[in-house]
Amino acid sequence: MNYKKITVAGSGVLGSQIAFQSAFHGFDVTIYDINEEAIAKAKERAEKLKATYKAFFKTTDTQVEEAFSRLTFFTDLAQATEDADLVIEAIPEVVPIKTEFYEQLGEVAPEKTVFVTNSSTLLPSQFAEATGRPQKFLALHFANEIWKNNTAEVMKHPGTDENVFNEVIAFARAIGMVALPLHKEQPGYILNSLLVPFLEAAELLLVKEVADPETIDKTWMIGTGAPLGPFAILDVVGIRTAYNIVEAKAAATNREDFQQLAKLLKTEYIDKGKLGRETGEGFYKYPNPAFMASDFLKK
Ligand code: NAD
Repeated sequence: MNYKKITVAGSGVLGSQIAFQSAFHGFDVTIYDINEEAIAKAKERAEKLKATYKAFFKTTDTQVEEAFSRLTFFTDLAQATEDADLVIEAIPEVVPIKTEFYEQLGEVAPEKTVFVTNSSTLLPSQFAEATGRPQKFLALHFANEIWKNNTAEVMKHPGTDENVFNEVIAFARAIGMVALPLHKEQPGYILNSLLVPFLEAAELLLVKEVADPETIDKTWMIGTGAPLGPFAILDVVGIRTAYNIVEAKAAATNREDFQQLAKLLKTEYIDKGKLGRETGEGFYKYPNPAFMASDFLKK
């Protein structure tokens, strides 16, 4: 492994997890955020992650304390990246914020430093020029709750150097991820390129009143052997996120079916506090949803 020193920029939900995951696997990690308040929050998040990792990996206090001790915190970008081999960017999903960040980063980081973005919806080619080093820039996309949802989608843009791509794949594996290489830029990476149209298809069957969620899920589960149907997955994703996606599509396409679907999700679910698993109810009621019943697939 060529990389030893990692800098994570942005210590919110994902940044703090990426930092802790990397430190847990033995890397020296510098966390960069914009001010002392954000750094104080980052320390709190890291404290909480100690307990999460200890329970999930059934490990000792010493191991998680050691991981914690490999974290350092800075609000100065030049100091934070002084000897970095890799900078992982996990700052807000806002184009001007990211563009400005990459312009600054490109100026202060050493020439050797590789930059990766954890962006979920923006493409690396949008920022390649701002980095000043397009060949050393690509996407490394993690999922929330990284310790258990350990996918790392590694995606090139047309200017990414092949060796850099391979190094980042090796790094992802070194921190316990299953690395999933994408050789071409693809909005939504692999997972959302599959999942978003799949969930939409299920939701459209519902809004057209073709069948109810349980029947649709049952069909998918029996037909493919999958452990969850689309509506059970929507409960995990959260109805609010599903609504935001549908709403954006309704606005962009003016399609009546998407407009009806957005209305249905809002009035029947969001307004009634049925936001999915996080609130105990969405399309199903938790903790004992109907699809978990032993006879669900039998009748
Ligand atoms: P978040 O809002 O929880 O955290 C963002 C952090 O960035 C905050 O700590 C904030 O202080 C900091 N920040 C703001 N401006 C900054 C700047 N100019 N420089 C450095 N830090 C700055 O966001 P998040 O949910 O962790 O998302 C971060 C990125 O990760 C986004 O690109 C998002 O698409 C991606 N992502 C998020 C998830 C998720 O489930 N939340 C999953 C995969 C990828």
